[in-house]
Amino acid sequence: VLAVRDALSKPRVHDRLDPAWVQLVKFHQGAFALAEYAAVLAELRMCRFGRDSAWRIMANLGALDEIRHTQIPLLLGHDLLEMDGNFDWTHKAYHTNNLIVVAARHLFEDGFLAANAIDIAIQLNFVIETGFTNLQFMALAAMADGADHHVFEKALASIQTDEARHAQIGHPVVRALMRHGGRGYAQYLLDKMWWRCWRLFLATTGTAMDYLAPIEARTRSFKEFMQEWVIEHFMRNLEEFEFDLPWFWRLFLDELDYAHHSLQPALYSCRTMLWFDEPTPSEPERAWLRDKYPTWVQTYEPIWDRIEDAWERQGEGSTLTYTLPALCNLCQLPTVFIGPGNSTACSLKRNGRSYLFCSQPCRWIFEKEPERFGGHRTVVDRVITGEAPSDLQDLLIWMGHDTLESTG
Ligand code: MN
Ligand code: MN
Repeated sequence: VLAVRDALSKPRVHDRLDPAWVQLVKFHQGAFALAEYAAVLAELRMCRFGRDSAWRIMANLGALDEIRHTQIPLLLGHDLLEMDGNFDWTHKAYHTNNLIVVAARHLFEDGFLAANAIDIAIQLNFVIETGFTNLQFMALAAMADGADHHVFEKALASIQTDEARHAQIGHPVVRALMRHGGRGYAQYLLDKMWWRCWRLFLATTGTAMDYLAPIEARTRSFKEFMQEWVIEHFMRNLEEFEFDLPWFWRLFLDELDYAHHSLQPALYSCRTMLWFDEPTPSEPERAWLRDKYPTWVQTYEPIWDRIEDAWERQGEGSTLTYTLPALCNLCQLPTVFIGPGNSTACSLKRNGRSYLFCSQPCRWIFEKEPERFGGHRTVVDRVITGEAPSDLQDLLIWMGHDTLESTG
């Protein structure tokens, strides 16, 4: 990575990158660089508390890997500062209460930090690293190649070589857990983490791949990557241990066609609350989306027509939202995963208050562990309790956007 950086990071190389691709990189850097640091702490916890010397040694090496995975994006983000000051969000994002960052942190704290060594082996190694990191690092690396961003491509591919190694902690731990009657426990953590990862990765990787990558870099659609790299691989893991398919599998498969398309207009209209920009899809991109997602033309294209029409008639201000979206009390994302003719949002009353969820699986996870999740406040909850300001300008500052330039 360092050699490629030396060869390719000369001044002006960045100038040739597609502008939407630059936003994709900025999104990725902010959303994932310090998640790698959370993984350092998780590996170290297994290194201390894993109940087998092989496990502890693998986790020790895993912690070294994850330190590297934190440092590489920080270094690349620092290089990119000269092009765009918002690359400081590579390091800054996880130190803010930006609403997308809160969602990412909520998942990684649940999966890595507020978890014991066995939970970590299942949630981080078995589910995330054998499933979703392929998407983030192999699929996105292929796209980086197509976008001629070779330093980023090498960084991603290099990270995945480590992930493939320490991901192997998961299988022997699951095997041992099965021998000791832990099947139900393992199945729950697997179902929970699968759903939670699906939510976060569709919000970050799904929207980025299908809306920010230049068309010539889109070797596959997000759905096709999910089918090839994530679902097939994960199914083999399930079969190996005779796990059941998660109960929400049908909903998950349906959502491949719409969930990230449903979130994208929300990201677009909330772009002043993000540290990167979002474009409207161009005509060639619309044609690509219609081809890859046959229902997109009826369900989502009219939304973009209305947005473009509003801009033309009333100016850019009419394409922005001036309130926070309703947020899910589990995944913390906007509750906008609306399929054709169907909203999946739902609610729950508990101890005299209402909780809102984007979907049945998020409510199910909450109900399984109400003590764990019930006390956490979404950004909207914090506005209501007075912990966060209700004026949008002040709220943006509270979320880490202290200058106008630091927003999308
Ligand atoms: Mn990593
Ligand atoms: Mn890892």
